[in-house]
Amino acid sequence: MAFQFWKRKNKEAEIAADSSVAIDATSGTITPSPSVSSSELVAVELPKRSAKKGIRSLFSKIKFDPENLDELEDTLIQSDFGVDASSAIVADVKARAKKSGAKTDKDLKEILAAVLEENLENPNKALNLSDGKTPYVLLVVGVNGVGKTTTIGKLSNWLVQGGFKVVIGAADTFRAAAVDQVATWAERAGAILVRPKQEGQDPAAVAFETVDEAIKQDADIVIIDTAGRLQNKADLMNELDKIRRVIEKQAQISEVLLVLDATTGQNGLAQAKAFAEVAKVTGVVLTKLDGTAKGGIVYSIQRELGIPVKLVGVGEGIDDFAFFDAKEFANGLVN
Ligand code: GDP
Ligand code: MG
Repeated sequence: MAFQFWKRKNKEAEIAADSSVAIDATSGTITPSPSVSSSELVAVELPKRSAKKGIRSLFSKIKFDPENLDELEDTLIQSDFGVDASSAIVADVKARAKKSGAKTDKDLKEILAAVLEENLENPNKALNLSDGKTPYVLLVVGVNGVGKTTTIGKLSNWLVQGGFKVVIGAADTFRAAAVDQVATWAERAGAILVRPKQEGQDPAAVAFETVDEAIKQDADIVIIDTAGRLQNKADLMNELDKIRRVIEKQAQISEVLLVLDATTGQNGLAQAKAFAEVAKVTGVVLTKLDGTAKGGIVYSIQRELGIPVKLVGVGEGIDDFAFFDAKEFANGLVN
């Protein structure tokens, strides 16, 4: 079943009903739980996105031999699945191969794909845009250069295509260039932008004004771009806490999305742990999957943090992202 997103009926509702867009965003299993009476809600249809172009095959060069899967284990470790997980995956492949009598390279690859898919599946991978209590607020966090602003541009464009009215808050206020960058993306995406009143304005004030503006304009979604610099954990915690508090005066936070750069591998995992502690992260966006053979980091993040990878970035273009799909991903890695 497709993900189901809901927004309140308003004058934009007709745009959402445009039948020229595909219905299925991905192959998730989330059922809607609108808390607002269903007559006031309209289902949103969003264009399909695929991560195919971004997934690098890891195992295509390996010759599989059921007697000797050392090479498979090495490749899993190098791809950031983690040492323990890699040996568990290999043991599982071996056991299944033995049971089914699989001998050929092709059989073993099928088994590997199935094992990886099962390990990568996570039931909470849908974006939380379902309860109808708009504006939905997405807070986007992560260190400098991981791809926060780019992801916000891609996501906004996609949401606007689905008929959502999106307001972006430029709460990375410390560099004028950061505001210009998010402004460019907002324009491309057709989203409304709330800028800081002056350079270096308190990010929490910008977040507050953004939600305020979204409510005034009857918008569906607020996305807050934050600064990535963090001198230390206490500073980060204070800043994110303050942003949260001011948002929650006016709206609930639907998602705290932590953006991680897949090319940083295990280093990204350490960052993720630090952020998960302070920012109440609800989902991970893994960017730059197109530039790395370390896709196993998806697995490590979900296993070690218990946080689902919700979106993946697979390039610099506006359409280069997808929902994380375990089957597509596992097949991409294997074939
Ligand atoms: P921020 O500091 O976290 O806001 O990061 P930016 O959004 O400014 O992105 C930093 C750089 O990463 C830019 O050059 C982006 O084009 C690039 N980038 C972001 N996402 C992706 C991705 O999925 N794939 C690739 N190849 N590059 C990306
Ligand atoms: Mg940025």
